[in-house]
Amino acid sequence: METKPKLAMYWAASCGGCEIALVNIHEKIFDVMDSFDFMFCPCLMDTKYHDIEALADGSIAITFFNGALRTDENIHMARLLRQKSQLLIAFGSCAAEGCIPGLGNLSSRQDLMDRIYRDSLTLDDHQGPLPATSTGVVEGNLTLPEFLPVVKTLGQVVAVDYSIPGCPPESHQVWNCVNAVIQGHPLGAKGAILGGGRSTVCAECVRTRTEKKIRTLYRTYEILPDAETCLLEQGLLCMGVVTRDGCGGLCPRVNMPCTGCYGPPEGVLDQGAKMISALGSMLDLEDAGEVNVDDYARRMDVLLEGIPDLAGTLYKYSLAGSILGGKRTP
Ligand code: SF4
Ligand code: SF4
Repeated sequence: METKPKLAMYWAASCGGCEIALVNIHEKIFDVMDSFDFMFCPCLMDTKYHDIEALADGSIAITFFNGALRTDENIHMARLLRQKSQLLIAFGSCAAEGCIPGLGNLSSRQDLMDRIYRDSLTLDDHQGPLPATSTGVVEGNLTLPEFLPVVKTLGQVVAVDYSIPGCPPESHQVWNCVNAVIQGHPLGAKGAILGGGRSTVCAECVRTRTEKKIRTLYRTYEILPDAETCLLEQGLLCMGVVTRDGCGGLCPRVNMPCTGCYGPPEGVLDQGAKMISALGSMLDLEDAGEVNVDDYARRMDVLLEGIPDLAGTLYKYSLAGSILGGKRTP
């Protein structure tokens, strides 16, 4: 009997949007099913981990791995799927860069647990139990994976063959990747970012740019920007200047600033630091009056007060994978 190459998709620390991106290829999913034995996807089917462990090494043709690595279970699955897969693809921003789960690296484990299980305003019992790796109950012992001190990207733990950027990846990018494999076309040099360009979102943005001088920074709900002019010039913190192109400038097209989901562009290691550097040359500090470092610093503070969660804005997707990595916590 003819056997089809195996396709797997794993969900680590992420929201599930990546699975939706795969399903959003719509009827082309039938082409995927014709060409692959889609044999592992915890959110769709009940394949057990021991079924994966029993496979010969390299017997899965492609694994799409979405999600950051937050628990020891995520790390185990990253290593296991690396061993069993010919191609391991970091699927989406969480796997490639840590994304929103990576912002957990700004807090200690204890702070995160307290925030969720003790301090949340919606709780009745603020002294309730915290999750534990082992909990005895009358029926026996219940176990949970260990919640690790920091979130890691897939590439920080195992070798990754390719990445598909985006939060979530766009379905046509997913299809282009799958179809290339179906057709036997090469995916590009190892390590390539599939569907990503070599420039920035600004390069594919249709808005008019002049000299960028920002006198006030606004949050998106505070102004209705005009539809033609660069959003950054209008005071909205658009990350397009420090974000890899490839999406077609989707967000600025609908009057929303780019939040950076394609990650840093070619040659940039730290998207947040690059944006700080860019802002340094764009923020208009003339109101500082005399040329005095303290005046400039004060004016800079006033400008940045317009963005209450600066770390979460500049590193929304890339903190875990950045040089900064997070905040040192106990
Ligand atoms: S900063 Fe944003 S709005 Fe301005 S050109 Fe770049 S992508 Fe477009
Ligand atoms: S414009 Fe920015 S945030 Fe929006 S899809 Fe493109 S890369 Fe992602």
